[in-house]
Amino acid sequence: MTEPLYIRIKPEDNVAIAVHKIAAGTEIMPGIVTREEIPQAHKIALADIPKGGAIVRYGVVLGYALQDIACGGWINEHMLELPEPPDVDHMEFGTNIRTDLPKPERTTWMGYRNAEGYAGTRNYLGIVTTVQCVEGVVNVAADRIRRDILPKYPNVDDIVVINHAYGCGVAINAPEAKVPIRALTNICKHPNFGGELMVISLGCEKLQPEMITDRTDADHLIVLQNYKGFENMVRAILDMADKKLAKLNERRREELPLSDLLIGMQCGGSDAFSGVTANPSAGYASDMLVAGGATVMFSEVTEVRDGVHLLAERCVSKEVCDRLSEEMKWYDNYLAEGQVDRSANPTPGNKKGGLSNIIEKAMGSIAKSGTAPIVEVLSPAERPSRKGLIYAATPASDIVCGPSQLASGITLQVFMTGRGTPYGMAAAPVIKVCSRTDMKELWPDLIDVNCGTIAEGKQTLEEKGTELFNCILDTAEGKYKPYAESYKLNNYMCFFNPAPIT
Ligand code: CA
Repeated sequence: MTEPLYIRIKPEDNVAIAVHKIAAGTEIMPGIVTREEIPQAHKIALADIPKGGAIVRYGVVLGYALQDIACGGWINEHMLELPEPPDVDHMEFGTNIRTDLPKPERTTWMGYRNAEGYAGTRNYLGIVTTVQCVEGVVNVAADRIRRDILPKYPNVDDIVVINHAYGCGVAINAPEAKVPIRALTNICKHPNFGGELMVISLGCEKLQPEMITDRTDADHLIVLQNYKGFENMVRAILDMADKKLAKLNERRREELPLSDLLIGMQCGGSDAFSGVTANPSAGYASDMLVAGGATVMFSEVTEVRDGVHLLAERCVSKEVCDRLSEEMKWYDNYLAEGQVDRSANPTPGNKKGGLSNIIEKAMGSIAKSGTAPIVEVLSPAERPSRKGLIYAATPASDIVCGPSQLASGITLQVFMTGRGTPYGMAAAPVIKVCSRTDMKELWPDLIDVNCGTIAEGKQTLEEKGTELFNCILDTAEGKYKPYAESYKLNNYMCFFNPAPIT
Protein backbone atom coordinates (compact mmCIF):
# COMPACT_ATOMS: atom_id res chain seq x y z
CA MET A 1 0.00 0.00 0.00
CA THR A 2 1.47 3.39 -0.98
CA GLU A 3 1.54 5.95 1.76
CA PRO A 4 -0.76 8.88 0.95
CA LEU A 5 0.74 12.39 0.72
CA TYR A 6 -2.32 14.16 2.06
CA ILE A 7 -5.62 13.56 3.88
CA ARG A 8 -8.85 15.12 2.69
CA ILE A 9 -11.71 14.32 5.03
CA LYS A 10 -14.91 15.24 3.16
CA PRO A 11 -15.37 15.58 -0.62
CA GLU A 12 -16.57 19.17 -0.13
CA ASP A 13 -13.34 20.16 1.67
CA ASN A 14 -11.24 22.69 -0.24
CA VAL A 15 -8.18 21.90 1.90
CA ALA A 16 -6.25 18.74 2.77
CA ILE A 17 -3.52 18.15 5.36
CA ALA A 18 0.01 16.95 4.61
CA VAL A 19 0.80 13.48 6.01
CA HIS A 20 4.50 14.43 6.05
CA LYS A 21 6.30 17.60 5.00
CA ILE A 22 5.70 18.11 1.26
CA ALA A 23 8.31 19.86 -0.88
CA ALA A 24 7.40 22.81 -3.13
CA GLY A 25 6.51 21.77 -6.67
CA THR A 26 5.05 18.36 -5.72
CA GLU A 27 2.00 17.27 -7.68
CA ILE A 28 -0.18 15.89 -4.88
CA MET A 29 -3.11 15.07 -7.15
CA PRO A 30 -3.72 15.65 -10.86
CA GLY A 31 -3.42 19.38 -11.52
CA ILE A 32 -2.64 20.36 -7.92
CA VAL A 33 1.01 21.30 -7.35
CA THR A 34 2.34 22.68 -4.06
CA ARG A 35 3.46 26.29 -4.43
CA GLU A 36 5.70 26.20 -1.39
CA GLU A 37 6.86 23.71 1.22
CA ILE A 38 3.92 22.46 3.32
CA PRO A 39 4.86 21.54 6.91
CA GLN A 40 3.61 18.20 8.29
CA ALA A 41 -0.07 18.31 9.36
CA HIS A 42 -0.59 21.73 7.78
CA LYS A 43 -3.26 22.60 5.24
CA ILE A 44 -2.88 22.79 1.46
CA ALA A 45 -5.45 24.70 -0.64
CA LEU A 46 -7.06 22.30 -3.14
CA ALA A 47 -8.64 25.17 -5.09
CA ASP A 48 -8.18 28.90 -5.54
CA ILE A 49 -9.81 30.53 -2.50
CA PRO A 50 -10.55 34.25 -2.98
CA LYS A 51 -10.31 36.75 -0.12
CA GLY A 52 -13.49 36.30 1.98
CA GLY A 53 -14.03 32.77 0.63
CA ALA A 54 -14.82 29.86 2.97
CA ILE A 55 -12.04 27.48 4.02
CA VAL A 56 -13.70 24.09 4.48
CA ARG A 57 -12.36 21.05 6.37
CA TYR A 58 -14.45 18.25 7.96
CA GLY A 59 -17.22 19.65 5.72
CA VAL A 60 -17.45 22.72 7.99
CA VAL A 61 -16.32 26.30 7.51
CA LEU A 62 -13.14 26.77 9.56
CA GLY A 63 -13.02 30.43 8.66
CA TYR A 64 -12.94 32.96 5.83
CA ALA A 65 -9.79 33.74 3.86
CA LEU A 66 -8.17 37.04 4.86
CA GLN A 67 -6.32 37.13 1.52
CA ASP A 68 -6.46 35.40 -1.88
CA ILE A 69 -5.07 31.88 -1.51
CA ALA A 70 -3.93 30.10 -4.68
CA CYS A 71 -4.49 26.40 -5.31
CA GLY A 72 -1.53 24.43 -3.92
CA GLY A 73 -0.72 27.14 -1.37
CA TRP A 74 -0.06 26.67 2.36
CA ILE A 75 -2.83 27.86 4.70
CA ASN A 76 -1.72 28.85 8.17
CA GLU A 77 -3.45 30.37 11.19
CA HIS A 78 -2.85 33.97 10.01
CA MET A 79 -4.98 33.50 6.89
CA LEU A 80 -8.39 32.80 8.47
CA GLU A 81 -11.03 34.98 10.04
CA LEU A 82 -12.97 33.19 12.80
CA PRO A 83 -16.76 32.96 12.25
CA GLU A 84 -19.33 33.41 15.04
CA PRO A 85 -19.94 30.31 17.20
CA PRO A 86 -23.24 28.38 16.70
CA ASP A 87 -26.32 29.76 18.44
CA VAL A 88 -27.13 27.54 21.43
CA ASP A 89 -30.68 28.79 21.95
CA HIS A 90 -32.28 27.08 18.99
CA MET A 91 -30.47 23.79 18.53
CA GLU A 92 -32.18 20.79 16.97
CA PHE A 93 -31.91 17.70 19.14
CA GLY A 94 -32.36 13.98 18.54
CA THR A 95 -32.01 14.13 14.74
CA ASN A 96 -28.88 11.95 14.67
CA ILE A 97 -29.49 9.07 17.10
CA ARG A 98 -27.40 6.11 16.00
CA THR A 99 -28.59 2.65 17.03
CA ASP A 100 -26.13 0.42 15.12
CA LEU A 101 -22.96 0.97 17.15
CA PRO A 102 -20.06 -1.47 16.61
CA LYS A 103 -20.59 -4.50 18.86
CA PRO A 104 -17.74 -5.35 21.23
CA GLU A 105 -16.33 -8.88 21.42
CA ARG A 106 -15.69 -8.53 25.15
CA THR A 107 -18.70 -7.71 27.32
CA THR A 108 -17.22 -8.34 30.75
CA TRP A 109 -14.08 -7.26 32.59
CA MET A 110 -12.30 -8.03 35.86
CA GLY A 111 -12.76 -5.15 38.29
CA TYR A 112 -13.20 -4.29 41.96
CA ARG A 113 -16.90 -4.29 42.79
CA ASN A 114 -18.10 -1.51 45.09
CA ALA A 115 -21.08 -1.51 47.48
CA GLU A 116 -22.65 1.15 45.27
CA GLY A 117 -21.92 2.79 41.94
CA TYR A 118 -19.24 1.95 39.42
CA ALA A 119 -16.50 -0.61 40.02
CA GLY A 120 -12.80 0.20 40.50
CA THR A 121 -10.01 -0.42 38.02
CA ARG A 122 -7.42 -0.20 40.81
CA ASN A 123 -7.41 -0.91 44.55
CA TYR A 124 -6.10 2.27 46.18
CA LEU A 125 -6.19 3.72 49.67
CA GLY A 126 -7.46 7.26 49.06
CA ILE A 127 -6.40 10.07 51.40
CA VAL A 128 -8.34 13.27 50.75
CA THR A 129 -7.18 16.55 52.26
CA THR A 130 -9.59 19.39 53.09
CA VAL A 131 -7.00 22.14 52.74
CA GLN A 132 -3.57 22.82 51.25
CA CYS A 133 -2.07 23.52 54.70
CA VAL A 134 -1.88 19.81 55.56
CA GLU A 135 -0.07 18.72 52.38
CA GLY A 136 3.47 18.66 53.80
CA VAL A 137 2.53 16.49 56.78
CA VAL A 138 0.39 14.16 54.67
CA ASN A 139 3.17 13.71 52.10
CA VAL A 140 5.69 12.75 54.80
CA ALA A 141 3.16 10.29 56.26
CA ALA A 142 2.43 8.91 52.79
CA ASP A 143 6.13 8.24 52.16
CA ARG A 144 6.33 6.31 55.43
CA ILE A 145 3.14 4.35 54.65
CA ARG A 146 4.59 3.33 51.28
CA ARG A 147 7.91 2.36 52.81
CA ASP A 148 6.83 0.65 56.06
CA ILE A 149 3.19 -0.43 55.79
CA LEU A 150 2.10 -0.93 52.16
CA PRO A 151 4.49 -3.89 51.55
CA LYS A 152 2.44 -5.90 54.12
CA TYR A 153 -0.63 -5.60 51.86
CA PRO A 154 0.23 -6.90 48.38
CA ASN A 155 -3.35 -6.71 47.08
CA VAL A 156 -3.42 -2.92 47.44
CA ASP A 157 -1.99 -1.13 44.40
CA ASP A 158 -0.89 2.08 46.13
CA ILE A 159 -1.99 4.96 48.29
CA VAL A 160 -3.27 8.09 46.57
CA VAL A 161 -3.17 11.48 48.29
CA ILE A 162 -5.58 14.06 46.91
CA ASN A 163 -3.70 17.31 47.49
CA HIS A 164 -5.22 20.49 46.03
CA ALA A 165 -5.15 24.27 46.31
CA TYR A 166 -8.72 24.66 47.64
CA GLY A 167 -10.02 24.70 51.22
CA CYS A 168 -9.16 28.05 52.79
CA GLY A 169 -8.57 31.65 51.78
CA VAL A 170 -11.54 31.22 49.48
CA ALA A 171 -15.01 32.81 49.28
CA ILE A 172 -16.68 29.61 50.46
CA ASN A 173 -20.21 31.06 50.24
CA ALA A 174 -19.83 32.45 46.70
CA PRO A 175 -22.37 30.78 44.37
CA GLU A 176 -19.71 29.13 42.21
CA ALA A 177 -17.85 27.73 45.23
CA LYS A 178 -20.21 24.81 44.74
CA VAL A 179 -17.98 23.67 41.85
CA PRO A 180 -14.76 22.91 43.80
CA ILE A 181 -16.77 21.74 46.84
CA ARG A 182 -18.70 19.31 44.64
CA ALA A 183 -15.42 18.06 43.16
CA LEU A 184 -13.95 17.30 46.58
CA THR A 185 -17.21 15.75 47.81
CA ASN A 186 -17.36 13.43 44.83
CA ILE A 187 -13.67 12.54 44.84
CA CYS A 188 -14.27 11.13 48.36
CA LYS A 189 -16.61 8.59 46.70
CA HIS A 190 -14.18 7.61 43.95
CA PRO A 191 -14.65 3.99 42.83
CA ASN A 192 -10.90 3.27 43.00
CA PHE A 193 -10.90 4.09 46.75
CA GLY A 194 -13.13 1.13 47.66
CA GLY A 195 -15.03 2.97 50.41
CA GLU A 196 -12.09 2.96 52.88
CA LEU A 197 -11.38 6.65 52.59
CA MET A 198 -9.24 8.76 54.95
CA VAL A 199 -9.84 12.50 55.33
CA ILE A 200 -7.08 14.77 56.71
CA SER A 201 -8.16 18.21 57.95
CA LEU A 202 -6.22 21.02 59.59
CA GLY A 203 -9.10 22.14 61.83
CA CYS A 204 -9.53 25.87 61.29
CA GLU A 205 -10.08 25.88 57.51
CA LYS A 206 -13.16 27.18 55.74
CA LEU A 207 -13.84 23.87 54.02
CA GLN A 208 -14.84 21.88 57.10
CA PRO A 209 -14.77 18.07 56.61
CA GLU A 210 -18.56 17.71 56.96
CA MET A 211 -18.94 19.89 53.86
CA ILE A 212 -17.43 17.14 51.72
CA THR A 213 -18.12 13.86 53.54
CA ASP A 214 -20.42 12.30 56.12
CA ARG A 215 -17.47 10.19 57.31
CA THR A 216 -16.33 12.54 60.04
CA ASP A 217 -15.95 9.96 62.83
CA ALA A 218 -12.63 8.93 64.35
CA ASP A 219 -12.37 5.94 61.99
CA HIS A 220 -12.14 8.21 58.93
CA LEU A 221 -11.10 11.72 59.93
CA ILE A 222 -7.86 13.09 61.39
CA VAL A 223 -7.74 16.76 62.42
CA LEU A 224 -4.10 17.83 62.74
CA GLN A 225 -4.79 20.66 65.21
CA ASN A 226 -6.02 18.02 67.70
CA TYR A 227 -2.56 16.41 67.99
CA LYS A 228 0.44 17.31 70.13
CA GLY A 229 3.30 17.79 67.74
CA PHE A 230 4.30 16.49 64.33
CA GLU A 231 5.23 12.89 65.24
CA ASN A 232 1.85 12.26 66.86
CA MET A 233 0.07 13.52 63.73
CA VAL A 234 2.09 11.22 61.51
CA ARG A 235 1.57 8.30 63.90
CA ALA A 236 -2.22 8.82 63.80
CA ILE A 237 -2.20 8.83 59.98
CA LEU A 238 -0.05 5.68 59.88
CA ASP A 239 -2.28 3.83 62.37
CA MET A 240 -5.45 4.67 60.46
CA ALA A 241 -3.83 3.75 57.14
CA ASP A 242 -2.73 0.37 58.56
CA LYS A 243 -6.33 -0.53 59.50
CA LYS A 244 -7.73 0.57 56.17
CA LEU A 245 -5.05 -1.16 54.13
CA ALA A 246 -5.82 -4.41 55.98
CA LYS A 247 -9.44 -4.16 54.81
CA LEU A 248 -8.57 -3.13 51.25
CA ASN A 249 -6.13 -6.03 51.06
CA GLU A 250 -9.11 -8.43 51.22
CA ARG A 251 -10.54 -7.11 47.95
CA ARG A 252 -10.26 -9.20 44.79
CA ARG A 253 -11.15 -8.56 41.16
CA GLU A 254 -14.38 -10.19 39.95
CA GLU A 255 -15.88 -10.64 36.52
CA LEU A 256 -18.21 -7.71 35.98
CA PRO A 257 -20.42 -6.41 33.16
CA LEU A 258 -19.18 -3.42 31.14
CA SER A 259 -22.03 -1.44 32.72
CA ASP A 260 -19.88 -1.30 35.88
CA LEU A 261 -17.17 0.62 34.02
CA LEU A 262 -16.94 4.43 33.82
CA ILE A 263 -14.08 5.90 31.80
CA GLY A 264 -13.14 9.38 30.53
CA MET A 265 -11.78 10.72 27.27
CA GLN A 266 -9.57 13.78 27.00
CA CYS A 267 -7.16 15.28 24.51
CA GLY A 268 -4.25 17.66 24.97
CA GLY A 269 -1.47 19.05 22.82
CA SER A 270 -3.54 18.29 19.71
CA ASP A 271 -2.42 18.66 16.11
CA ALA A 272 -4.20 18.48 12.77
CA PHE A 273 -3.88 14.66 12.79
CA SER A 274 -5.68 14.34 16.12
CA GLY A 275 -9.02 14.72 14.40
CA VAL A 276 -8.33 12.09 11.73
CA THR A 277 -6.37 9.42 13.60
CA ALA A 278 -6.24 9.47 17.43
CA ASN A 279 -9.60 11.04 18.29
CA PRO A 280 -11.71 9.02 15.81
CA SER A 281 -9.99 5.81 17.04
CA ALA A 282 -10.95 6.79 20.58
CA GLY A 283 -14.46 7.51 19.28
CA TYR A 284 -14.68 4.05 17.74
CA ALA A 285 -13.51 2.45 21.02
CA SER A 286 -16.03 4.63 22.87
CA ASP A 287 -18.84 3.44 20.60
CA MET A 288 -17.89 -0.19 21.31
CA LEU A 289 -17.80 0.45 25.06
CA VAL A 290 -21.17 2.21 25.00
CA ALA A 291 -22.66 -0.58 22.85
CA GLY A 292 -21.45 -3.02 25.52
CA GLY A 293 -23.17 -1.03 28.30
CA ALA A 294 -20.23 1.01 29.66
CA THR A 295 -20.34 4.71 30.49
CA VAL A 296 -17.93 7.02 28.66
CA MET A 297 -17.45 10.66 29.54
CA PHE A 298 -16.04 13.39 27.32
CA SER A 299 -15.62 17.06 28.19
CA GLU A 300 -13.75 20.29 27.33
CA VAL A 301 -16.27 23.08 26.64
CA THR A 302 -14.16 25.37 24.43
CA GLU A 303 -13.29 22.37 22.27
CA VAL A 304 -16.91 21.45 21.54
CA ARG A 305 -18.38 24.97 21.46
CA ASP A 306 -17.98 25.38 17.69
CA GLY A 307 -19.46 21.96 16.96
CA VAL A 308 -22.11 22.00 19.68
CA HIS A 309 -24.94 21.76 17.16
CA LEU A 310 -23.49 18.37 16.12
CA LEU A 311 -23.68 17.21 19.75
CA ALA A 312 -27.25 18.54 20.10
CA GLU A 313 -28.30 16.30 17.19
CA ARG A 314 -27.10 13.35 19.26
CA CYS A 315 -28.87 14.36 22.51
CA VAL A 316 -31.56 11.82 23.40
CA SER A 317 -34.09 14.35 24.72
CA LYS A 318 -34.95 18.03 24.93
CA GLU A 319 -33.95 17.98 28.57
CA VAL A 320 -30.42 16.78 27.70
CA CYS A 321 -30.15 19.33 24.87
CA ASP A 322 -31.32 22.12 27.21
CA ARG A 323 -28.65 21.14 29.73
CA LEU A 324 -26.05 21.29 26.93
CA SER A 325 -27.21 24.76 25.97
CA GLU A 326 -27.19 25.88 29.63
CA GLU A 327 -23.61 24.69 30.15
CA MET A 328 -22.42 26.41 26.93
CA LYS A 329 -24.02 29.69 28.01
CA TRP A 330 -22.48 29.46 31.46
CA TYR A 331 -19.04 29.03 29.86
CA ASP A 332 -19.57 31.76 27.25
CA ASN A 333 -20.37 34.10 30.12
CA TYR A 334 -17.43 32.88 32.23
CA LEU A 335 -15.04 33.62 29.34
CA ALA A 336 -16.71 36.96 28.56
CA GLU A 337 -16.19 38.09 32.17
CA GLY A 338 -12.49 37.48 31.61
CA GLN A 339 -12.77 39.50 28.38
CA VAL A 340 -11.92 36.55 26.13
CA ASP A 341 -13.83 33.99 24.10
CA ARG A 342 -13.25 30.42 22.96
CA SER A 343 -10.60 31.65 20.50
CA ALA A 344 -8.27 31.95 23.53
CA ASN A 345 -8.00 28.14 23.53
CA PRO A 346 -5.47 27.06 20.85
CA THR A 347 -1.83 27.01 21.94
CA PRO A 348 1.35 27.78 19.98
CA GLY A 349 1.90 24.00 19.79
CA ASN A 350 -1.57 23.41 18.33
CA LYS A 351 -0.84 26.01 15.64
CA LYS A 352 2.57 24.55 14.88
CA GLY A 353 0.74 21.24 14.51
CA GLY A 354 -1.42 22.72 11.77
CA LEU A 355 -4.51 23.67 13.78
CA SER A 356 -5.38 27.14 12.54
CA ASN A 357 -8.14 28.00 14.99
CA ILE A 358 -10.59 26.73 17.61
CA ILE A 359 -13.09 25.50 15.01
CA GLU A 360 -10.53 23.18 13.46
CA LYS A 361 -9.44 22.07 16.94
CA ALA A 362 -13.07 21.51 18.03
CA MET A 363 -13.98 19.42 14.99
CA GLY A 364 -11.07 17.12 15.79
CA SER A 365 -11.77 17.10 19.51
CA ILE A 366 -15.42 16.08 19.12
CA ALA A 367 -14.36 13.00 17.15
CA LYS A 368 -13.30 11.34 20.40
CA SER A 369 -16.96 11.11 21.45
CA GLY A 370 -17.64 8.67 18.62
CA THR A 371 -21.16 8.54 17.27
CA ALA A 372 -23.23 7.23 20.21
CA PRO A 373 -26.27 9.13 21.50
CA ILE A 374 -25.60 11.54 24.39
CA VAL A 375 -27.71 10.45 27.36
CA GLU A 376 -26.76 13.08 29.95
CA VAL A 377 -25.00 16.44 30.29
CA LEU A 378 -23.24 17.23 33.58
CA SER A 379 -21.81 20.30 35.25
CA PRO A 380 -18.11 19.97 36.16
CA ALA A 381 -17.44 17.19 38.72
CA GLU A 382 -21.05 15.97 38.88
CA ARG A 383 -21.57 12.21 39.00
CA PRO A 384 -23.53 10.61 36.15
CA SER A 385 -27.01 9.28 36.87
CA ARG A 386 -27.35 7.48 33.53
CA LYS A 387 -25.22 4.94 31.69
CA GLY A 388 -23.98 5.50 28.15
CA LEU A 389 -22.20 8.46 26.55
CA ILE A 390 -22.06 11.45 28.90
CA TYR A 391 -20.90 15.00 28.26
CA ALA A 392 -19.37 16.72 31.33
CA ALA A 393 -18.88 20.46 30.74
CA THR A 394 -15.37 20.98 32.14
CA PRO A 395 -12.57 23.33 31.10
CA ALA A 396 -10.33 21.94 28.36
CA SER A 397 -7.10 22.52 30.33
CA ASP A 398 -5.61 19.04 30.77
CA ILE A 399 -4.85 19.41 34.46
CA VAL A 400 -8.32 20.80 35.22
CA CYS A 401 -10.36 18.49 32.99
CA GLY A 402 -8.56 15.43 34.40
CA PRO A 403 -9.38 16.01 38.10
CA SER A 404 -12.90 17.12 37.15
CA GLN A 405 -13.59 13.84 35.33
CA LEU A 406 -11.95 12.01 38.22
CA ALA A 407 -14.40 13.67 40.62
CA SER A 408 -17.22 12.55 38.30
CA GLY A 409 -15.97 9.02 38.97
CA ILE A 410 -13.93 7.96 35.94
CA THR A 411 -11.66 5.04 36.80
CA LEU A 412 -9.48 5.31 33.68
CA GLN A 413 -8.75 8.07 31.20
CA VAL A 414 -7.86 7.79 27.53
CA PHE A 415 -5.74 10.77 26.53
CA MET A 416 -5.12 11.69 22.89
CA THR A 417 -2.16 13.86 21.93
CA GLY A 418 -0.45 15.11 18.80
CA ARG A 419 2.34 17.25 20.21
CA GLY A 420 2.94 15.04 23.28
CA THR A 421 2.48 15.42 27.03
CA PRO A 422 3.71 13.14 29.81
CA TYR A 423 0.55 13.92 31.88
CA GLY A 424 -0.84 11.33 34.29
CA MET A 425 -3.08 11.01 37.34
CA ALA A 426 -2.43 9.08 40.54
CA ALA A 427 -6.04 8.01 41.14
CA ALA A 428 -6.77 6.47 37.73
CA PRO A 429 -4.57 5.07 34.96
CA VAL A 430 -4.14 7.28 31.87
CA ILE A 431 -3.60 5.64 28.45
CA LYS A 432 -1.65 7.90 26.09
CA VAL A 433 -2.72 7.75 22.44
CA CYS A 434 -0.79 9.68 19.78
CA SER A 435 -1.92 10.97 16.40
CA ARG A 436 1.37 10.64 14.47
CA THR A 437 4.04 7.94 14.16
CA ASP A 438 6.74 10.64 14.56
CA MET A 439 5.34 11.29 18.05
CA LYS A 440 5.59 7.60 18.99
CA GLU A 441 9.16 7.51 17.67
CA LEU A 442 10.06 10.60 19.72
CA TRP A 443 8.47 9.22 22.91
CA PRO A 444 8.41 5.42 22.54
CA ASP A 445 8.31 4.97 26.33
CA LEU A 446 5.51 7.46 27.03
CA ILE A 447 2.98 6.79 24.26
CA ASP A 448 0.92 3.63 24.71
CA VAL A 449 -0.98 3.52 21.41
CA ASN A 450 0.08 5.03 18.08
CA CYS A 451 -2.73 5.96 15.68
CA GLY A 452 -0.35 7.47 13.10
CA THR A 453 -0.59 4.20 11.16
CA ILE A 454 -4.07 5.27 10.01
CA ALA A 455 -2.69 8.36 8.23
CA GLU A 456 -0.01 6.18 6.65
CA GLY A 457 -2.67 3.83 5.25
CA LYS A 458 -1.31 0.88 7.26
CA GLN A 459 -4.32 0.34 9.51
CA THR A 460 -7.99 1.22 9.34
CA LEU A 461 -9.82 3.31 11.89
CA GLU A 462 -11.87 0.24 12.85
CA GLU A 463 -8.73 -1.85 13.44
CA LYS A 464 -7.12 0.84 15.56
CA GLY A 465 -10.34 1.55 17.46
CA THR A 466 -10.74 -2.14 18.29
CA GLU A 467 -7.09 -2.30 19.42
CA LEU A 468 -7.69 0.69 21.68
CA PHE A 469 -10.92 -0.87 23.05
CA ASN A 470 -8.90 -3.95 24.04
CA CYS A 471 -6.14 -1.78 25.53
CA ILE A 472 -8.77 0.06 27.62
CA LEU A 473 -10.16 -3.20 29.01
CA ASP A 474 -6.68 -4.68 29.60
CA THR A 475 -5.79 -1.51 31.50
CA ALA A 476 -9.07 -1.56 33.46
CA GLU A 477 -8.28 -5.15 34.47
CA GLY A 478 -4.76 -4.24 35.60
CA LYS A 479 -3.21 -6.58 32.98
CA TYR A 480 -1.66 -3.60 31.22
CA LYS A 481 -0.08 -0.66 33.01
CA PRO A 482 0.18 2.48 30.85
CA TYR A 483 3.58 4.20 30.84
CA ALA A 484 2.37 7.18 32.88
CA GLU A 485 1.14 4.80 35.59
CA SER A 486 4.31 2.69 35.55
CA TYR A 487 6.53 5.74 36.02
CA LYS A 488 4.04 7.40 38.43
CA LEU A 489 3.89 10.57 36.31
CA ASN A 490 1.17 12.08 38.46
CA ASN A 491 0.04 15.64 37.91
CA TYR A 492 -1.16 17.95 40.66
CA MET A 493 -4.93 17.96 41.19
CA CYS A 494 -6.06 21.34 39.93
CA PHE A 495 -9.79 21.41 40.72
CA PHE A 496 -11.81 23.96 38.77
CA ASN A 497 -12.64 26.96 40.96
CA PRO A 498 -14.62 29.69 39.18
CA ALA A 499 -15.31 31.42 42.56
CA PRO A 500 -13.22 34.21 44.14
CA ILE A 501 -10.20 33.63 46.35
CA THR A 502 -9.96 35.95 49.35
CA1 CA B 1 -7.49 18.96 27.36
